[in-house]
Amino acid sequence: MTHVFHRHLHSTPPVAACASGMRIQDAAGRSYLDASGGAAVSALGHGHPDVLAAMHAQIDRLAYAHTSFFTTEVAERLADELVRTAPAGMGHVYLVSGGSEAVEAALKMARQYFVEIGQPQRTHFIARRQSYHGNTLGALAVGGNAWRRAPFAPMLVPATHVAPCYPYREQRAGETPEQYGLRLADELDAAIVAQGADRVIAFVAETVGGATAGVLTPVPGYFNAVRAVCDRHGVLLILDEVMCGMGRTGTLYASEQEDVVPDLVTIAKGLGGGYQPVGAVLAQKKIVDALSQGSGFFQHGHTYLGHPVACAAALAVQTVIRRDGLLAKVRADGLAFGAMLRQALGEHPHVGDIRGRGFFWGIELVADRGSKRPFAAALKVHAAVKQDALARGLLCYPSGGTADGVHGDHVLLAPPFIASRADLQEITRLLGASI
Ligand code: PMP
Repeated sequence: MTHVFHRHLHSTPPVAACASGMRIQDAAGRSYLDASGGAAVSALGHGHPDVLAAMHAQIDRLAYAHTSFFTTEVAERLADELVRTAPAGMGHVYLVSGGSEAVEAALKMARQYFVEIGQPQRTHFIARRQSYHGNTLGALAVGGNAWRRAPFAPMLVPATHVAPCYPYREQRAGETPEQYGLRLADELDAAIVAQGADRVIAFVAETVGGATAGVLTPVPGYFNAVRAVCDRHGVLLILDEVMCGMGRTGTLYASEQEDVVPDLVTIAKGLGGGYQPVGAVLAQKKIVDALSQGSGFFQHGHTYLGHPVACAAALAVQTVIRRDGLLAKVRADGLAFGAMLRQALGEHPHVGDIRGRGFFWGIELVADRGSKRPFAAALKVHAAVKQDALARGLLCYPSGGTADGVHGDHVLLAPPFIASRADLQEITRLLGASI
């Protein structure tokens, strides 16, 4: 009998006992190959000696100091590093303890920005269907999953959801990817106008979608067109890179590959690599300046923000990624991984689409390839694949079934950046067997 409140109240998961590199071992001695890095978290795998050493050194020196009294050297160094490598114009880093907290802080920072500059009538967010931004009330409100929102719907901040960029399902016959991207930007424009352009705070989007639809990569030009629409209406662009950021797609920020600069960007997961809960919001100078010249105070904050050991872990993860050339590795091995997946599964009758970048791949499972017809939700095919993969000693991250507007079943692969080509082959083999 367990006293831990597991989310699935009728089952208890296996007990994770220890982990090293690409593998986690449970208390019964079973070993699992980590093909999802948890949920795109473990960027450097498990037990990386450099990260552990940095955390040990920090905890021996200073484990905690409340930010209402102090800043710390390690938080300052992490923020310097993040600003140095951030999208252009990012002035400050607001440190938090995870992805939902990062999104929550970004939403509030965007709202307070408009209050400070004398546009308090802006109260509405536009976001996308098939998106995930976290489970706190603000993040939930912008998330695109109506099933997750349903019990809390009467309590959420106002948000409208437009179509995501989902070419496999929604690009029309005869439409080029570029035309499809422009059509989506026109739909965003219409949604902003329908809401009243001067009432909208921001458009919120994952640069590359993750948790809800097995990786959704944007078509070329989509984000440039989105940026132009936002600029035309004075609406901020918030990119959520909690899952796709910090090198996951082969560049530190996925937005670099879209040549788009957001007003606010959220990061977490891979930032701490699983060693510590840590996230951040990076904000354009104009936003920080407005708050600083206005009230001079951001009306938001958490007890553990900028935790020294979390900062030490994040700094060490960044240092290792740079020192070991892991972004270039992820780009090169990511192409090879995509080729392996396509070769092994591309003709499979129940694999509809294989898409991704770097070490971030999604597989869409369908009942019928030709018509793209999804499996009946009640079959819970994604959950069955996860269960079968577990039995084979493979950890992959499934999604689908319950979400409003989500077409069917997906499997997300997000292995640690240290994965060898042999590991990627083994992941492909095991997942193929499960499917
Ligand atoms: N944004 C995105 C894009 C995510 O994928 C997630 C987590 N899956 C979150 C926000 C929320 O992060 P957390 O679970 O750390 O609160």
